[in-house]
Amino acid sequence: MVTKSEAVSKLKELSDIITKSREAYFNFNQSDITDQEYDQNISEFANIIAKYPELEDEYKVLDQIGAIPNSKFKKVKHLSPMYSLSNAFTNEDIYNFLNQMRSFLDLSGSEQIDLVFEPKIDGLSLSLIYKNGYLFQALTRGDGQIGEDVTENARLISDVPLSIPVKNGTLEIRGEVYFPNSTFSELNDELKIKGRKTFSNPRNAASGTLRQFKSNKNRNTNLCFFAYSVGNAPYRLADSQAMLLKIFNDLGFKTNNLSKVFTSVEKLLQYYEEVFSLRPELDYDIDGIVYKVNDFRLQERLGFRSSSPRWAIAHKFPAEMSITVIEDIEIQIGRTGTLSPVAKLKPVNIGGVVVSSATLHNKDFIKGLDNKGNKIRGGADIRKGDWVTVYRAGDVIPKIKDVDISKRNQISKPFAFPDHCPSCNTKVKIDESDSAIRCHNSQGCDAQIIAGLKHFVSKKAFNIDGLGGRIIEEFYQKDLIQQPGDFFRLESKSKHALNLIEFFGKGWGKKSLKNLFNSIEKARLIKFERFLFSLGIRHIGENASQVLATYFDSWDVFYNKIKCGISKNDKQFLFEIEGIGQLMVASLVEFFSDFKEREKLDDLLNYVKIENFIKSSKIETAITNKKLVLTGTFKGFSRAELKSICERHGAKVLTALSNNVDFLVVGQSPGSKVKKADQLGVKQIFEEEFKALIDYSL
Ligand SMILES: [Zn+2]
Repeated sequence: MVTKSEAVSKLKELSDIITKSREAYFNFNQSDITDQEYDQNISEFANIIAKYPELEDEYKVLDQIGAIPNSKFKKVKHLSPMYSLSNAFTNEDIYNFLNQMRSFLDLSGSEQIDLVFEPKIDGLSLSLIYKNGYLFQALTRGDGQIGEDVTENARLISDVPLSIPVKNGTLEIRGEVYFPNSTFSELNDELKIKGRKTFSNPRNAASGTLRQFKSNKNRNTNLCFFAYSVGNAPYRLADSQAMLLKIFNDLGFKTNNLSKVFTSVEKLLQYYEEVFSLRPELDYDIDGIVYKVNDFRLQERLGFRSSSPRWAIAHKFPAEMSITVIEDIEIQIGRTGTLSPVAKLKPVNIGGVVVSSATLHNKDFIKGLDNKGNKIRGGADIRKGDWVTVYRAGDVIPKIKDVDISKRNQISKPFAFPDHCPSCNTKVKIDESDSAIRCHNSQGCDAQIIAGLKHFVSKKAFNIDGLGGRIIEEFYQKDLIQQPGDFFRLESKSKHALNLIEFFGKGWGKKSLKNLFNSIEKARLIKFERFLFSLGIRHIGENASQVLATYFDSWDVFYNKIKCGISKNDKQFLFEIEGIGQLMVASLVEFFSDFKEREKLDDLLNYVKIENFIKSSKIETAITNKKLVLTGTFKGFSRAELKSICERHGAKVLTALSNNVDFLVVGQSPGSKVKKADQLGVKQIFEEEFKALIDYSL
């Protein structure tokens, strides 16, 4: 039985954890704890309150809007992915953005690309799906692939039409839900009167209101919605973004009235300053401006990178800052052994988000030097106990802007960067390739293995729900999980030798265990590119995994080829792949030649089924499934665009000629490849023929 004073301190601790993870959840940030751990905390909390009901008033966490946000909302796959935007912070970034597009499209500097200026509302992205004219489903963004079904609550937003005059087919309208600043304080006053916890900012209020469970059945006039793009559509609604916004109005949607088309980037940047100064007067929060290429034909040509479009960018407003103190400096060890220093901060609110740690980048940054050895912060180093200015720019990890040495404690000492790994005590070395300090004991370093296992189950890899960082650490320490294959043996182990419910302790019932086993079971079917990414091979991130999957189509083909290549000491076939550089080849070879890695991998392969790469485009032409090499320069396209066109048509672009190449595409002033193609008998096609082969009509 807990005493009352134990209960008070436990409640305080639990309410902090619950509030923090709920905030992270509402902001769609990464939470450190899993749904199960969250539920466990809630039930522990409820048990204590049941014993000491008089304490309830002091700790209101059980009674907030949107309490217990877990699997209550159905998860639904988006019809097409909701991409995120890359960020720009300076005017120079915007000029670079334009130059990159110009070079991709092979335009000269004088040719204009018109941009649409749209304020970036700091709310919640929402996708509205209309079937035959009626609102069928409303989904939150989620991770971009899978969102949450919030249809019932979205129906209550008066800016969301329940029917639209497009009566045939499925039309997906995307936009932003926000809570107006003018009614935000009213809402908080109301919550205060009811003795409930208030919202820290309008975005949390929007998220909380949209995701609350007790919907009153009246149209909710508090939440608002701006439409800004189309996902799936039965036909092309418009030729340009500006026209689309007009059509949205005709369909009954609101669009932002500060949106505007610009033909000159200078004027656009001027308007950015104007809108920035308007910001306090607006009835919604904006955290930047989105620039989109106006012409949809150009948007199509520009296409997408792995997770963001090439034709849009978010120009962020200057970062928000706060001052706080560094309570400690910790060294974290990543899955590839990199030692990263992290400042543990006295928690501080920066623009509505509580920040308690910031990256210190590397050893030089702490010393007051940049990557080139030049002084930063006037050469001031950073120490434990220092007062620092911390900023957040976008959703990236908070950073340190400056240190106030006038407030420094006289007896503080410079931070001594460890020369041995804090986890396994191996002497660390500087890596020539990226000047990171690394522990090279990859097979025997607990911290690296644990980080690798966390990566393995993470969202973009195997995506196993219910395995938070703390659980994995415990599993590892107690010898339950040592390598990826062990996850798939967990259920049978628990049937025979081990009582997992006892292992997890209070809060873990049969149901949470069943959920965990279900999500492990579900994860056994995995896409090729995800599988490759999950292995955590150095330099093989999401992009490289995608490139390899696009190239090889099937895991078996890739794996056999690489095994065979390694036994014959042949790396050439990897060098031939566009987008796979030297460092990547080296680390692929290192990984797959490692006997222990191979053993773990082969063990894992017993449990998983790897799906072939699914091409996103369904365009089938004469070059589909063909291997191509490009040479020379082209009149109509840049090399980058030509390559991206080939990929959209399901062709593979290689860097070097060999017998298995189908076509050499020859531009102007071709190099020695033409001669080599003659010798090898590879068919050569010129730009016009190439266009004809793919029915190119743009
Ligand atoms: Zn180590």
